Amino acid sequence: MPDEHTVGDAVYAKWPQTNLWFHATVVKSKKGYVTVRFNDEDATVETLPDKFVSAEGRFARSGSKSPGRKRSRSRSRGRSPGRKVKASPSPVKKTTTSTRTTTSTRSRSRSKTRVMRAETPTRQSARIQAKQIAEASGTTTTTKTFVAEELVQKSRVGKTTEKDFGGVIGTFVMTLVMPIFIMHATFVANSGWVIKEHKHIAVRDLVDRRAIAIYGGWFVFQAILAMLPLGRVVEGVTLRNGTKLEYRCNGFIALLVSLAAFGAAVKLKYPVTIVCDLFPQLVFTGIVFSIVLSVALYIRARGCSNAALATGGNSGNIIYDFFKGRELNPRCFGGAFDLKFFCELRPGLIGWVMVNFCFISKDCLENKYPSYAAVLVAVFQLWYVADALWFEEAILTTMDIVHDGFGYMLALGDLAWVPFLYSLQVRFLIDNPQTYSWYTLTGFFLMNLIGFLIFRGSNSQKDAFRKNPYDPALAHLESMPTSAGKRLLVSGWWGMCRHPNYLGDLIMAFAWTLPCGFKFAMPWFYPLYFVVLLVHRAYRDDLFCRKKYGTSWNNYRERVKYQIIPYVY
Ligand code: NDP
Repeated sequence: MPDEHTVGDAVYAKWPQTNLWFHATVVKSKKGYVTVRFNDEDATVETLPDKFVSAEGRFARSGSKSPGRKRSRSRSRGRSPGRKVKASPSPVKKTTTSTRTTTSTRSRSRSKTRVMRAETPTRQSARIQAKQIAEASGTTTTTKTFVAEELVQKSRVGKTTEKDFGGVIGTFVMTLVMPIFIMHATFVANSGWVIKEHKHIAVRDLVDRRAIAIYGGWFVFQAILAMLPLGRVVEGVTLRNGTKLEYRCNGFIALLVSLAAFGAAVKLKYPVTIVCDLFPQLVFTGIVFSIVLSVALYIRARGCSNAALATGGNSGNIIYDFFKGRELNPRCFGGAFDLKFFCELRPGLIGWVMVNFCFISKDCLENKYPSYAAVLVAVFQLWYVADALWFEEAILTTMDIVHDGFGYMLALGDLAWVPFLYSLQVRFLIDNPQTYSWYTLTGFFLMNLIGFLIFRGSNSQKDAFRKNPYDPALAHLESMPTSAGKRLLVSGWWGMCRHPNYLGDLIMAFAWTLPCGFKFAMPWFYPLYFVVLLVHRAYRDDLFCRKKYGTSWNNYRERVKYQIIPYVY
């Protein structure tokens, strides 16, 4: 039970985005939130959930998992942030750095340091930070040096020597080809691979102020929704330097608000079909926006400490690093807004659903009956996006968040490729309505359902296992130990093949495309590209896991032989 607090109470309060508790004074208390003034030099005022505020007496007495225990373990706990400011050249408010240090009296004592950072350090090196942390924790000189060195070593990103995506040449070609292909697909969604009636389109025809306003407005709208203090705040995986970042997961709420806004716009007869009329201009805007963002990210990453870089984007080659992304977790607004996490699931993914619905609205306005096949595919895709946002925190353990830097590959992928290319089937089905019997439509539905059950079942099983391997609900599953300490599932979905979730995803991709028929090739781009993407992704994951688990990974591969399709591949 959280404590009751009254104005003027002396308390301990948790410094935002850290695990450190400091002296503070209550200035306001309302409905589960307490506003406190920290005793630092700036007299920082923060409003915190009441679980992060504890009465001083209770704090000192409490036992396991309570702030009191944390305090007893670390001499830094009871200090005011002001003390920390002294040890640090930049104010704590900006770097928000904290430590948890345990030292034993034995000569070969081990120290564990946990550093929470709300903002990527741009001016401080990991070494300076580590020293400050050790100083702030008041450890002995020997331990101090040990902690500092350990942190520096762990955080260091070496030069990227193993280049994927075909290295510099491959990434150069992809950098050029990807936007051209998105534009091309915009004009040929309703036909074959090539534009049959070639219309000359000048770049100036693609620049439209309304398109820029719609795209920019949508991005800002999603950013505002992402920053609303709604939804759970969860921790990401442990970073190389022992820290964990916090993420607010309110994507599902953002989807509901966006759908409600779309419904209201249709009801009030706002011209939502402008999205269809300006589609090429919107696509062009999305591409240009992604390129500008990628350039800004690349420039920003030049000022980052080595510790903030992604392991795969530090080759020293501008083309390769620009494509792969240099900085792992670029954040802005004082660390409160994670750009990669936001772009991965919000403007592009929800935008994809909105593009589908705009085209279906246009179809409804122009024809007496909409294309049922298009509506069915739009519903399948809404289902897929809603699921991704409902289980939003699951993205925190994916390769994109854990390994990949935020650069051109993800920016263009998230902000132009997904919303404008993934809507290919719905756009095709509106231009080329297909008539199917209810049996056939039911068949498509069942196929999508089977894919979804495999996809969701396997992803949830792995997530549950990673969260708590001893969960009684998973007691029936077999797992094997690894040299890295973590166990790997070898039964259930994960005993069938090494990527059952990819299999489910692929089945859904085919269920969305089959209604388009086989007359035209273009709608088939998505499942074919997706096969290539997931096979390559499985290969990349295999490389990561080999490094992580060493020979245990080989044993696991012996045990679970197939990569994506049992008995086939
Ligand atoms: P996974 O969710 O499969 O994650 C791979 C990680 O899972 C491994 O690195 C390993 O990490 C862990 N793992 C692997 N095998 C086991 C096991 N047997 N037991 C326990 N843990 C295991 O991959 P992705 O991050 O690539 O994909 C996530 C989802 O996103 C997938 O469903 C995919 O289909 C989907 N996706 C969709 C895309 C789209 O455009 N629609 C694009 C890309 C992905 P560790 O051991 O460290 O936990």
